[in-house]
Amino acid sequence: MQVTFWGTRGSIATPGPATIAYGGNTSCVEVRCGTDILVFDAGTGIRPLGLSLMKEFMDRPLTIHLFLSHTHWDHIQGFPFFVPAYLPTTTVHLYGSTGRGRPLEKVIRGQMDTDYFPVALGDMQSALHVHEFKGKPFQIGEATLTAKFLNHPGMTLGYRITCGKKSMVYATDNEPYQQTLAHLGQRAEAGRDFGRRLDAEFMSFIAAADLYIGEAQYTDDEYPARIGWGHSSITATVEAALAANVRTLAFSHHDPLHDDATVAAMAETAQRLIAERGSSLHCFAAHEGQTVEV
Ligand SMILES: [Zn+2]
Ligand SMILES: [Zn+2]
Repeated sequence: MQVTFWGTRGSIATPGPATIAYGGNTSCVEVRCGTDILVFDAGTGIRPLGLSLMKEFMDRPLTIHLFLSHTHWDHIQGFPFFVPAYLPTTTVHLYGSTGRGRPLEKVIRGQMDTDYFPVALGDMQSALHVHEFKGKPFQIGEATLTAKFLNHPGMTLGYRITCGKKSMVYATDNEPYQQTLAHLGQRAEAGRDFGRRLDAEFMSFIAAADLYIGEAQYTDDEYPARIGWGHSSITATVEAALAANVRTLAFSHHDPLHDDATVAAMAETAQRLIAERGSSLHCFAAHEGQTVEV
């Protein structure tokens, strides 16, 4: 599996000299499994991905499988600028959760409503097929994908991808349930039990992954003021990767307030924690344009 990060920023695009090393485009990761192209999220990073695919597929049809974690702006806003979607030779399979009371297709159509964007979804000439997650795995060529709801406002999915003997997880926009419950004082032991159970399910979901693309939107100092926002601290994400025996952790969805020095310092915090545990976990802060072989 070849994995390329086209957008590593969370919440909103943050171009400029302070984010040049880790990148300013919002969430988008490209995965190649055999000849299949899987894309995770359509943040602004999908725009340069589209330009790159245009060069590669200049003279042949293109099929992409686009998996949305959820439909917050930083995960869909690049889609209207995904140039291959305007070509009749392109097929886009779009996967994700239904919205709250609205089908996924309607949510995507909504952001291209005439009040927000000059071109309607229906004006895109590619063949668009929408597949809503109903609990069953998705099979795409050699790749098997399972999905799981995460602890984040809205209907948010993480994905586990198995390609041949390798597996990876894409699960940004997630907060450990127990941290939310404990800090909100949520109260009854039954609630904490429920949180523990959901966290345990998440640990099984990422267990022994060759690559876990997680998130660390906040430093440990920032996190206490942002509990319940649906994101993790660096220590929480490293702890999860350690406990789940993940081989490599890439943390992404960098906070828009974090300049390159802050993200680098968070990577150092992660390395210190891993060294203290004597673990062989490999960990890095994902940067835009980075490709890793899994
Ligand atoms: Zn996000
Ligand atoms: Zn979100």
